[in-house]
Amino acid sequence: MRVLERLDQLYAIGDGTRLAYSPEEDAAHELAAEWMLEAGLEVGSDEAGNLFGRRGEARVWSGSHLDTVPNGGKFDGALGVAAAIEAAERLRAVPLAVVAFRAEESGPMGSRRLTELPDAFLEVHIEQGPTLGRLGRPLGIVTAIAGQARGRVTFEGRAGHAGTTPMDERADALVEAAEFVLRVRDSARDGAVATVGALEVEPGATNVVPARATASVDVRAPTAEQLEGLIEAIGFEPVWRQDPIEMTGPPLDALRAVLPDAPELVSGAGHDAMMLAAAGVPTAMLFVRSLNGGISHSPDELSADEDIELAVDALTAALERLASAVDE
Ligand SMILES: [Zn+2]
Repeated sequence: MRVLERLDQLYAIGDGTRLAYSPEEDAAHELAAEWMLEAGLEVGSDEAGNLFGRRGEARVWSGSHLDTVPNGGKFDGALGVAAAIEAAERLRAVPLAVVAFRAEESGPMGSRRLTELPDAFLEVHIEQGPTLGRLGRPLGIVTAIAGQARGRVTFEGRAGHAGTTPMDERADALVEAAEFVLRVRDSARDGAVATVGALEVEPGATNVVPARATASVDVRAPTAEQLEGLIEAIGFEPVWRQDPIEMTGPPLDALRAVLPDAPELVSGAGHDAMMLAAAGVPTAMLFVRSLNGGISHSPDELSADEDIELAVDALTAALERLASAVDE
């Protein structure tokens, strides 16, 4: 299948590393532009460098991003663009646009700076998690993108000599931080997740009792209430927060009509679709099963050829419905 070949071609650029606005991302955009032309689309780009392949009065968009994290996988982002081009090729009479957003992994920088918006947006993306694999299902419909909050918590102690300060006279900031890490883990329930991914210890010497420890906090939850509850339970002041965003309207209806039995799930990761939905565009996402236990942002990221074929079929059928739905 052509989509699979194209994923290989994209991966070959930079060997899985196509960073934001790098020559490798540019090359991926040039390649996608050629494919868009072959599919009979009119190619253009906007100020942010987002690439568009349009047919007619394109009020329905589909696509994703072509940048990667360093040493990323073959499917994250690229699949959504390649699948949308393939769908456009099959729907030669349908007005629509395929979009390749810039720099999703470091922002998103492209979908954040759109100067025009469609009436509907559909994004195909690899799940990047184990849910569909566990269910034994190739495709899933995303009903919401989890809310996120991030912050930092600092614990103050007292520096002391590691050899001469008695255990009962210590104020060890790192021990306090360690208890906090466990509390963060235990606070996340019912589909919510919470992570301490970075820890700074001062003075950070082998023979000194830590005087200060700063822990990062990243929490994500499917509903705004859960997000709020998690922030309170952990006890931190978010420096950044994004409430959960629902997938809605004709794009969600179209996916449900095309895949009536597909499982529905919440995306724990952020996506370009989140930016469109946040801007008020009715948006939905189709997830393709991740193999290898759901590993992503890694060369081991994998989806099966058959699953990708099913995704392209479903996307094509959904876009066809959607184009006529927004026309009414
Ligand atoms: Zn992605």
